[in-house]
Formats: sequence, C-alpha cells, structure tokens
Amino acid sequence: MEKLKIAIQKSGRLHEKSLELLKDSGINLPNGSGKLLSAARDFPLEILFVRDDDIPEYVADGVADTGIVGENVVAEKGFRLKIMERLGFARCRLSLAIPRNVDYPGPHYFTNLKIATSYPNVLRKFLDDKGIKAEIHEISGSVEIAPGIGLADAIFDIVSSGSTLISNQLKEVETVLHSEAVLVANEKMKAGVHELLEKLLFRIRAVQKSRNNKYILLNAPNEKIPDIVKIIPGMKSPTVMPLAEEGWSSLHSVLNENKFWEVIDQLKELGAQGILVIPIEKMIV
Ligand code: ATP
Ligand code: ZN
Repeated sequence: MEKLKIAIQKSGRLHEKSLELLKDSGINLPNGSGKLLSAARDFPLEILFVRDDDIPEYVADGVADTGIVGENVVAEKGFRLKIMERLGFARCRLSLAIPRNVDYPGPHYFTNLKIATSYPNVLRKFLDDKGIKAEIHEISGSVEIAPGIGLADAIFDIVSSGSTLISNQLKEVETVLHSEAVLVANEKMKAGVHELLEKLLFRIRAVQKSRNNKYILLNAPNEKIPDIVKIIPGMKSPTVMPLAEEGWSSLHSVLNENKFWEVIDQLKELGAQGILVIPIEKMIV
C-alpha cells in the first residue's frame, strides 16, 4: 500500500506544533519520537524526523513527499517546492538590524558594510534588488552578538518579539520576509501518494479552521438516534427534532475536537446523513 512520507523537525521550535497538528488531524504516533522514522498508527503516513534546514532538500529530492518547515528556510534554500498550506505557527520575520544608537537613513546605509547572517541567499537577493553592495558574512549561530564583538556592522536575522535585539543594543530597520510554518510538497508525486496528501491536507485544513469544540447537526433514522446520542452526548444532552420526512430526526450536539474524525466515521456507519459541523464562538459550561 502507498504511504505518504512527511518530514518534520526532530527537535526545536517547530517540532511540538507539527506533531500537534498531525494529532489534531487524527494521526497518532506509536510512542516517543526519538527515532528517525516513525509510522503513524491510523493513517498511511511515515514521519521522518530531521533538522529543519534539511527539510526543503529532502522534499525537493523526494526523500520525503511533504514536510513542515518555516518559510524563512524555504526561501533561503531555494528549492522548487509547492507551498500547500500556511500553518499559522512559528511566526517570525527576517530583518536587518543595526546598532541602536545609529540613525538609519534608509537601505543605502548598508553600502560597503559587513552584515552577519545565517540567511545569505535571502539577504543577497534583497540587497541586489535594491542595488546595494555590501559584504555578507555567513555565520551559523548567535548572529545577534556579531556587532557587539566587532565581527560585523549589522545583522540579518530572525526576529519575533525583538527582545534579543534589545538585549544586544540593536534595532530592527528593515523587514525583508514575514514567515510562518508551512506545509511544503514535492512538485511531482505518484497519484496514490498525492491522494494521501490531499486527504491529509483536507484534515489539516479542517483543524486549522476549527477550535476545540464544534457544533454538530445531522439527520438520522429515528431507530439510530439512541446509538448516535451515545457517541455525541453533547454538553448536557443532544437536541432531537423531527424532520418533515416520516421516521427521520435532526440531531444537534457539541463534539470535542480530539475525537472528531473517529466520531464522524462512526456516525456515517450508523447511517447519519447531512452532517454539518459548525464552529462555536463562545461556550459557557
Ligand atoms: P534545527 O536543529 O532543526 O536546525 P534550528 O535551531 O535551526 O533547528 P529553531 O530555532 O528550532 O531552528 O527554529 C525553527 C524555525 O522556527 C525557524 O526556522 C523559524 O521559522 C521559526 N522561528 C525561529 N525563531 C523563532 C522565534 N523566535 N519565534 C517564532 N518562530 C521562530
Ligand atoms: Zn535549523
């Protein structure tokens, strides 16, 4: 049977949220995630745990079919990939920062200066587009300390709250790229694998749009109502209303996100039809 291979970060800022997204999509891993490769229990999915920097290349090469990674890394690596979905977490930006006490006159300020960064490709493109010649000094970590120790005049780095800049006496002067975690996919995929990706995406999108609890409405034959009530007991007890069609009822209830897919499958098996699931704005228990 075909399997979908997804690459996610082994440890770091993307790791937990990526796993949580899969979990909310009804995909659970056996236990622990210390291994390089893990197979999901309830979806034909294999999870490859790697460094985030390697994810674009693995997906572009087809080592993995899809992956979850920051747009900043996608932009830096430059591989041809399809962004299937923006995931709304690990929001940050790639920005230029200079010493706090310097007046900033505009991008030409950087002419002939030395800029430290772990994102040389994104920076080069920005400078080229503006026609600015500057020296790019690539370093792999602790970029923010470079000006303080005299290694560079400015930095180009990830910023989120800006507190790292402040504690290093720097200020953000140009935002070059806004980033969040994205689901990327290989451009060419076998039809069977693509179908699985679509299935996964369908779930991810449903999760993205929803919160913890949903309002659910469905139609069912009267004799199935007692069984359905057992599956979706609601906050107190579901509302059951007769339909104009003899022998059928409409049932309204509240459904917890954690069991969502499992319950939908069970409801379909019990003969529920016209299932509607609606977000809840406020819930007072
Ligand atoms: P790895 O060991 O996998 O190479 P890393 O140290 O390169 O990990 P992390 O620090 O875990 O990477 O960051 C992963 C991604 O999270 C970044 O590429 C970026 O998209 C996002 N990110 C980084 N810093 C922040 C931040 N301060 N706030 C929000 N998101 C961030
Ligand atoms: Zn990394």
